[in-house]
Amino acid sequence: MYLPNEAWPDLQSYFEEESLALVPLGSTEQHGPHLPEGTDHLIAEGFAREVAERTGYLCTPTITIGVSDHHLQFPGTASADPAAFRDYVESITRSLTTHGIDRVIYVNAHGGNVTHLREVGRRLRNDETAFAVEWMWDESIPERIDETFEHNGPHGGPKETALIQHLHPDLVHEDRLEEARDDGLVEVDEGIGRTHGSRTFYDSIDNSENGVFGDQTDASAEIGAELFGAASDELEALAMWLADQEFSDLMPKEHV
Ligand SMILES: [Zn+2]
Repeated sequence: MYLPNEAWPDLQSYFEEESLALVPLGSTEQHGPHLPEGTDHLIAEGFAREVAERTGYLCTPTITIGVSDHHLQFPGTASADPAAFRDYVESITRSLTTHGIDRVIYVNAHGGNVTHLREVGRRLRNDETAFAVEWMWDESIPERIDETFEHNGPHGGPKETALIQHLHPDLVHEDRLEEARDDGLVEVDEGIGRTHGSRTFYDSIDNSENGVFGDQTDASAEIGAELFGAASDELEALAMWLADQEFSDLMPKEHV
């Protein structure tokens, strides 16, 4: 069920039966020379709509701009102030709770949003309004992604390239995959950007000239379809699990 397409009597019927909502979130930021700036929010929307379709759970419109200060050196990146982003997501979630939603999955595809979504989830749980959790597709199938790509990358790499090749092939510049690899950073390890143990970088451009990581030529639409299916299974299972929980079990434990 996709909220913008429904009339209120039908939503009323949904809220009488269910109390779960899927909220897709991403970013609008540079994803290298080969992928669209909407990559993260298009991926999040793809998963949320797929699982809403499979399960009948409610999917809200996508929150398309996130916290992306670390990509502002590249043309087009749009970023929200972190505090404003947290308040915005929290207020939207609270509005859903007035209709009976008490559990939410933030279907997120942008690493820069994670800590903020965790903070919003904590606020909502602390006052026992709702249980909202953050989910990232790639964190739901980490081994599979590691096995699939020799040179994975945290941003604009083969995993995101494959997903967009699958979901929106018309938006991928296939003729720029080699350029994306050659002008970016292919080998990504824990030591990147660290000096004597400190993270001495702030922006993606500090580690990668064109803003992306990994080997994009390893990606394909077929691989994207497989990863999309596997992670959708995980999101579906999470939604079923969350819907099945007693609300009181999801709330903070008593002080010992
Ligand atoms: Zn991304």
